Amino acid sequence: MDMFCKSVREINTSPFDCLLFDLDDTLYSSKTGIGAALKTNIDDFLVEKLGFSNDEASSLRIELFKTHGSTLAGLRALGYDIDADDYHSYVHGKLPYELIKPDIQLRDLIRSIPQRKIIFTNSDRIHAIKALEKLGLQDCFEQIICFESINPNLTKSNYPGAYPVCLKPSTDAMRIAIDIANVDPRRTLFLDDNVHNIASGKSVGLHTVLVGKAVKTKEADYAVENIVNLNRMVPEIWTATTASSVSDGGGNKRMSRTRSDIESTISTATAVGA
Ligand SMILES: [Mg+2]
Repeated sequence: MDMFCKSVREINTSPFDCLLFDLDDTLYSSKTGIGAALKTNIDDFLVEKLGFSNDEASSLRIELFKTHGSTLAGLRALGYDIDADDYHSYVHGKLPYELIKPDIQLRDLIRSIPQRKIIFTNSDRIHAIKALEKLGLQDCFEQIICFESINPNLTKSNYPGAYPVCLKPSTDAMRIAIDIANVDPRRTLFLDDNVHNIASGKSVGLHTVLVGKAVKTKEADYAVENIVNLNRMVPEIWTATTASSVSDGGGNKRMSRTRSDIESTISTATAVGA
């Protein structure tokens, strides 16, 4: 006969089963300089590979981002036969990844999230892995949904327009990611710094967190200026961990970790990591 009689009561009250995280400018700040270096590399690609002038390159990059979501998507839509791997290795290969520093506070926060955690980025897989490694988050996510995941047929293209590049904020990209992740959007939290991506996510039924802004947009359910404040702004994520109890044979009861325990752990880690 067991010495202890355990009664475990778990009430899963969290509205979320899974969190989909954007990567660039969401898990690390746009102020690192990575984004600025990326723009320079894209302009260099347009000048060196396609013969545009420096001024034309900058304007075209901005225009294609607005109209097609990325320079690569826009170039292929315009008929340029640009190989996606060549493009990504050029524009990401020279990025100063050393500017992305390990983020212990963010690591502790993400590891305290009990639900499934998945990266959903427009970037290619090599870039996503490098950035996650630099942040010290390489083992924090069960899956990376990236450019290659959303565009599996691109390498089979006989001509640039055969398979248009699909990226956030298109709702097709959102639905593909939801399908790959195998989640119910109504029970999934989507975090991104781009207001258009947030609007698109909302339109397909996801719960949304706008990252990097203090004020919500119409389609954002939450806003967090810095992702490390997620536990204060969206405490519902942790609700599921507050309700289990274990009784021993003497009737003593102890609670499992509560949200305040988790916040305490995170704030301790903050002091160490600061
Ligand atoms: Mg982003």
